[in-house]
Amino acid sequence: MKIQFLGTAAAEGIPALFCNCPTCVYSREHGGRNIRTRSQALIDDVLLIDMGPDTLFHELSLGLDFTRIENCLITHVHFDHFQLENFQMRQRGYANLTPDVPALHVWGSHELYEKMVRPTTDVPLPSGKEIGEGGRVNRDDSVFCHAIEPLTPVRVGDHEVVALPACHGTREPYNYIVRNVKENKALLYAHDTSAWEDERVWQYFEQEKPHLDLVSMDCTSGNANAPHQRHHMCFVQNLAMRDRLIALGLCDEKTVFISNHFSHNGDDAAYDIFSKIAEKEGVLTSYDGMSVAF
Ligand SMILES: [Zn+2]
Ligand SMILES: [Zn+2]
Ligand SMILES: [Zn+2]
Repeated sequence: MKIQFLGTAAAEGIPALFCNCPTCVYSREHGGRNIRTRSQALIDDVLLIDMGPDTLFHELSLGLDFTRIENCLITHVHFDHFQLENFQMRQRGYANLTPDVPALHVWGSHELYEKMVRPTTDVPLPSGKEIGEGGRVNRDDSVFCHAIEPLTPVRVGDHEVVALPACHGTREPYNYIVRNVKENKALLYAHDTSAWEDERVWQYFEQEKPHLDLVSMDCTSGNANAPHQRHHMCFVQNLAMRDRLIALGLCDEKTVFISNHFSHNGDDAAYDIFSKIAEKEGVLTSYDGMSVAF
């Protein structure tokens, strides 16, 4: 199984628009892995996570071809993870897709479904059953949206996906466990969130014991000492999450742990500085374009 991090920053990017804080000044000067665009990831070259404002830049700069993408998971509807207009660019008149290219299916919460399906069609929201079958986003049937229930496995192409209710600042934020069915490997994409407060998540972990081969954790606050903050995490909270997942038996010594989704407002946030801190704890630090096979 493989994950490629396309964008690894919080909403502002690093260096941030209009900012000359020490992290932004350092990152502008040193470039390379210190430069971070807004969040997006690609699993096994086929399953996209999030559709933020830097999607086109990721396609261009990393040599990717998103016409081949048939499925996209959306974590939550903050603008740095979800830009509806990017999906609208897939319809005839904007994109010119040959007939052999199938529709794009987008998966996420009911909140996402309402934002994607309602604004572009004049019909009222369909029933729950119809929601499960996918709502039409573009008039030419080039994009469909599917609302998925939390903690209920759903088949998305070659992957099985379980949505976990995240602890974040939108109505229905999701984190995802994504399992490659053929390889029987799984990853947990925990963006954006702090430790899960919905008890159903912990019950699910205890009952189902999903084995996790890779865990990507929100690290918006970098090396700050803020162990009780909500909606995002710092590195101390990443380590606490790791310890709890190991204690539950979901992870073992082979599990890859990664800190990802950084903000210039976090402490020691520049890659060159933060990665040395994380390395001491055996945690990888994401950077734009990083691929991890596991
Ligand atoms: Zn974010
Ligand atoms: Zn800054
Ligand atoms: Zn967010």
